[in-house]
Amino acid sequence: MKRLAILGSTGSIGQSTLSIVEQFPNRYSVAALAAGRNLEEAFAQTLRWRPRIVSLATEELAGQLAARLKTAGLPEIEVVHGSAGTVACSTHPEADFVVSAIVGVAGLEATHAAILAGKPIGLANKECMVAAGEILTAAARERNVPILPIDSEHNAVHQCMRVGQHGEVKTIWLTASGGPFRHLPLNEFASITPEQALKHPTWVMGRRITIDSATMLNKGLEIIEACRLFNVPPSQVRVTVHPQSTVHSLVEFVDGSILAQISVTDMRLPILYALAYPERPASTLTFDLAALRHLDFEQPDFERFPCLRLAYEAAEMGGNHPIALNAADEVAVEAFLERRIPFTGIPSTIERVLASTPEGHPATIAEVLAADRQARQSAHALLS
Ligand code: MG
Repeated sequence: MKRLAILGSTGSIGQSTLSIVEQFPNRYSVAALAAGRNLEEAFAQTLRWRPRIVSLATEELAGQLAARLKTAGLPEIEVVHGSAGTVACSTHPEADFVVSAIVGVAGLEATHAAILAGKPIGLANKECMVAAGEILTAAARERNVPILPIDSEHNAVHQCMRVGQHGEVKTIWLTASGGPFRHLPLNEFASITPEQALKHPTWVMGRRITIDSATMLNKGLEIIEACRLFNVPPSQVRVTVHPQSTVHSLVEFVDGSILAQISVTDMRLPILYALAYPERPASTLTFDLAALRHLDFEQPDFERFPCLRLAYEAAEMGGNHPIALNAADEVAVEAFLERRIPFTGIPSTIERVLASTPEGHPATIAEVLAADRQARQSAHALLS
């Protein structure tokens, strides 16, 4: 029995993880839930899963949950809050495996603490790897802690990598849906509205990640994530636009063989893979091969999607620059959704923030968070 700590339990990855626990009650149980701000859902999950510990975003929410649990006859469940509460969940002595699915850098400290505590990680939070990949992977290597990617592309790469040695890998090919604007004439990019950008062709996701896939910055973050997770330079990670999103990614080996991972477009599959690794339990997530009528692969257009170029540049620089890329994007996407800047203002804001970012390699999570705040400040200053 693997006992899980789920960070971000009320988000979509958290809920999919719980549906896996539901399907495999003999394999998985829930030791800890870090739930954020959704009190109702946190209460329902706590009643259903009976974890040892639950964390909410604020002291006030935690107090309300504790009172409700007492009334419900569950006073023994510990209720904590804030970032210290998330750390208490991720390092709880009864947790054997941590699913890191809190969006943004908020999950960083708890993920790092879990690695230091020797707990295997299922990583759904790409910002962690982008902002602190060097620190997290070094800590994981030192303690021999596996970090299993839940992001669909990296999960596919992880699967393909199992058939060869690290030194035999020539290129990691990340597939990208290309977003809704891959054929839009370049001169129309400036007038893209938030409504147009929020319509994603294949995946239903949160607002920031949907905009990030329209600008392809999401793929840029994934390039950096791949470099860190698989310990390869940016030159060995390439992007191919694959609108069907059926091939989740590919690995090309030095002998010329290319391996691809194909499966249904359902996050439960990468989650199950991460939870069960190195085993492969039987699941009902089957894929109909007859659906493979055709598969298109195109080169990404760096002119339409300057965020890809910016991500390669940040990946090459390392240290402060990937942190700034992620932070500046988050601020710029917010401004775009509030109609304060045009769609093309997203890459231009990131570019200006990157240009003003000092070179440097944070050595601690506190330094990473400081660099993140610094980059956010300079993005806000540029946009005000
Ligand atoms: Mg992805």
